[in-house]
Amino acid sequence: ANEEAAATAAVALRDTEAPTIFDKILSKQIPSTVVYEDEKVLAFRDISPQAPTHIILIPKERDGLTQLSKAEERHEEILGHLLYVAKVVAQQEGLDDGFRIVINDGPNGCQSVYHLHLHLLGGRKLGWPPG
Ligand code: 5GP
Repeated sequence: ANEEAAATAAVALRDTEAPTIFDKILSKQIPSTVVYEDEKVLAFRDISPQAPTHIILIPKERDGLTQLSKAEERHEEILGHLLYVAKVVAQQEGLDDGFRIVINDGPNGCQSVYHLHLHLLGGRKLGWPPG
């Protein structure tokens, strides 16, 4: 039991980054258009869409995952789940001709919200390479 408590404390210590706007979306303090929800993931429409379909998928528990580069082995399951849900939502949105998943990481990746999230973009032919 002591070991368990110590492990929990260690996890809590790692997650010292400030709350983000996504916490307010999760708590419904800020309204959003939710397109998918399960016990681990919330998916909602981006407020500033960069394509006809632009959806943000987030883990409900940030658990230290402020950004992908902070991922640890314990995050493997949620990372896999997020990617699978992205595929489910893409089908739900009718993106049958393809789509793109983006994870911005850090300043060079133009990340602006430090709660790990996937962007699901589609509904038009996307450019490559990205800017
Ligand atoms: P990032 O730039 O960190 O990869 O992505 C953050 C995304 O969250 C941006 O595309 C931005 O438009 C979106 N976003 C920021 N604030 C809000 C909000 O209050 N509501 C919604 N629906 N999306 C938001």
